Amino acid sequence: MKTYEDVSLFTPGPVNVPARVLAAGARPMLHHRTAEAAVLIAGLVEKAQTLLGTKEDVLLVHTTGRGAMEGTIVNLLSPGDEIIAACNGKFGEMYAEIAATHGIVVHRVCTDWLRPLSLDEIARAIADHPGVKAITVCHNETTTASVNDIKAVAALGKKHGVLTIVDAVSSAGCLPIEFDAWQLDVLVTASQKGLMSPPGLSLVVLSQAAWQAVDAAKCPKFYIQFRDIRKNFHGKRPETPGTTPMSIVAGVEEALTMILQEGKENCYARHEKVAAAIRAGVQALGLSLFPADAAWRSPALTAVAAGAEISAALRAELRAGFGIAVAGGLGKAYKDSVIRIGHMGQVYPKDALTVVAAIEACLYKHGHIHNLGQGVSACIRELTGKE
Ligand code: PLP
Repeated sequence: MKTYEDVSLFTPGPVNVPARVLAAGARPMLHHRTAEAAVLIAGLVEKAQTLLGTKEDVLLVHTTGRGAMEGTIVNLLSPGDEIIAACNGKFGEMYAEIAATHGIVVHRVCTDWLRPLSLDEIARAIADHPGVKAITVCHNETTTASVNDIKAVAALGKKHGVLTIVDAVSSAGCLPIEFDAWQLDVLVTASQKGLMSPPGLSLVVLSQAAWQAVDAAKCPKFYIQFRDIRKNFHGKRPETPGTTPMSIVAGVEEALTMILQEGKENCYARHEKVAAAIRAGVQALGLSLFPADAAWRSPALTAVAAGAEISAALRAELRAGFGIAVAGGLGKAYKDSVIRIGHMGQVYPKDALTVVAAIEACLYKHGHIHNLGQGVSACIRELTGKE
């Protein structure tokens, strides 16, 4: 059995943390009420604003993504408020569940995991429920490896005075987000995926319209109070309420520095390139991709519909034989029949070659393929652009 030190994470979060990020977090413990800590907090916020395309405050929330998602519900809404939840994947569903837990009336739409969002269906739901306050939507649906068009949803929301709340937990750092230009109202992301850091810190952005909703919201809350977080940031020096997880703050600050040094567009293009090479390799090995509609596929992870028998054996063999961890499917019928290959953060063409070659070796060993080289050749063709 490989120890954790030998395993490369091709999982859709957490991801391999770059040495620079690990080193930034491994410095002697920094007290959070110091000028030095304030510099790191302010630096992180400024760089996150650049990454997310916003001039609004980026709130640092001491929790993983789900905690911050819950934070957006309790800070913006009151029991009895109505929302529309786009549910074409487990994480879309999760927002609906969190809201319902807090007494919000949730109208679920687009519940078919096999289909992209239908703007018509969302528009119909807005017309049917004229009192709705918000629409929740997942940007990069990590269950189905697909991307939802949040810009179009936000445009629709704006037209009807409905706030758009976006789960960008697995998209920030991997695919473009322009919070201000796209007129998003709320965005949540977390440290352990495209931001290639350890888990434990979330970032939340609110539009001015969303801040107005915060003033009216009556859901009970203690730990995550957006107004307090904003006040602490704009106090004598930038701070967060409670004990700030400074090691993770330092890590995320360094990760954002790396992304901006590379250039956002280059970073997104790199993710696209690696994704295309992995997809080409996997398909050449006779495996089907999920979702079937290529235009809808994510640059941050690839879902392979390998079937129950191959999926389990492939995951076990990749780990035992090659020290490569991939994830299984999540929810509904996909749990046992899909494997998900994460390519978020510091991924390069060499990683596409590695994972495709390892999958090829596993399939060969178990007699699922008989000719070697198909997957790797397709991957190389895609990477070189040469037939
Ligand atoms: N939303 C999406 C899209 C995710 O991929 C995840 C985690 O996989 C979450 C929310 C939940 O985040 P966390 O595990 O950080 O609480």
